[in-house]
Amino acid sequence: MRKYILAGNWKMNTDITTGIQLSQEIVDQYPTTLENQRTILCPPYTHLFPIEKETKNTPVEVAAQNCHSEKSGAYTGEISVEMLQSLGLKTVILGHSERRSYFGETDEVLKNKVNHALSEGMEIIFCIGESEDQRENEDFLAILKSQMEQAIFQLNEEQFSNIILAYEPVWAIGTGKTASPEQAEEVHAFLRACLEEKYSKETAQNTSILYGGSCKPANANEIFSKPNVDGGLIGGAALKSTDFIALINALTTQKTTR
Ligand code: PEP
Repeated sequence: MRKYILAGNWKMNTDITTGIQLSQEIVDQYPTTLENQRTILCPPYTHLFPIEKETKNTPVEVAAQNCHSEKSGAYTGEISVEMLQSLGLKTVILGHSERRSYFGETDEVLKNKVNHALSEGMEIIFCIGESEDQRENEDFLAILKSQMEQAIFQLNEEQFSNIILAYEPVWAIGTGKTASPEQAEEVHAFLRACLEEKYSKETAQNTSILYGGSCKPANANEIFSKPNVDGGLIGGAALKSTDFIALINALTTQKTTR
């Protein structure tokens, strides 16, 4: 049975004091959730160690926002899987549109990162998404499929069980524009069909597919109510504990009866 997941991508926000405080608030206010529900915080690298300690033995998990494709070496400013694992982390975001657009991470680069992280035993939140122009002028569903084909469909079915997919329409990230619940459901159902075609019905049903893009307490219930939306990857609304807790509650409420 697939998990329902709320992951907060803090990006390059908070400092060590406000970051630890935010994680403490989330742990302190953590509500009762479903057995098959996960909550993951993705703070900046500098806060990973104290926040991992802060959240130990709580239902809150910690993940990294990125990692390198090599084990170690002369890669100034980069972070390795081994470094993350030495902090106790087991999950990393890869393929975020900001990494793709601002840091030139191509499908090829991402494929190498995915292959390396998985070979070292990590779980990956893998992001895909179309730009506004692609949605308006191109076969954007084919683009999303191609993003999977280029970077994660080389994986065998067992490896793929360590992938969490995040559909993040680029035009909705940090813009205040959100995909409508129907738009999100259309894409998530399409992605699940791609997984069934590539792997199996079982893999398609077991893969968590998260929505990301200006998801906030005001729209989360509607989005999470859709059967193929298994949670969210949250940017802005992950930076305020009351909002993030409200999103955890929305996910619990919407999936309780399923
Ligand atoms: C994100 O960056 O993953 C994201 C979804 O951001 P926001 O919620 O701010 O749109």
